[in-house]
Amino acid sequence: MLQLIEKRFNFIQSHFNMRPSLDEYFMEIAKVVSKRSTCLRQKVGAVIVKDKRILATGYNGAPSGLPHCDEVGCLREKLNVPSGERIELCRGVHAEQNAIIQAAKFGISIEGATLYTTHCPCITCAKMIINAGIKRVVYGKDYADKSGLKLLKEAGIEVEYFPID
Ligand SMILES: [Zn+2]
Ligand SMILES: [Zn+2]
Repeated sequence: MLQLIEKRFNFIQSHFNMRPSLDEYFMEIAKVVSKRSTCLRQKVGAVIVKDKRILATGYNGAPSGLPHCDEVGCLREKLNVPSGERIELCRGVHAEQNAIIQAAKFGISIEGATLYTTHCPCITCAKMIINAGIKRVVYGKDYADKSGLKLLKEAGIEVEYFPID
């Protein structure tokens, strides 16, 4: 109930040009990050935040230096694989994974951080989020496969749905 009121408030706030809440602010940034995605299906953006500061960002796309799905095609697209299935066929690295990898590359601890993502994390990302020590996940869009969410909740991670357009 409280969460619902808070969401309503966020909505009213944004429509009267008031200062955005922190969740709104970081989710907005995740949306901007997602614009760099090269995935043919879903453009996903992720932002890792601790103490109100951005530690890392990521979007889904091919590993560094390799051609992207939008250049060489995507096997999942070719085979018409439904959303949420056979994700290993795609050469793309997921947004959440890229954000975690970026933190590792630059030696930034993300333990206890919040991860904002435009889309609900898949099960592979969920496993990495758990082991990276992330304590809260805020996601904007639902995903066909709910196993990632289930795993996050099972690990005691605070999961929040923050609808975005
Ligand atoms: Zn792909
Ligand atoms: Zn994923």
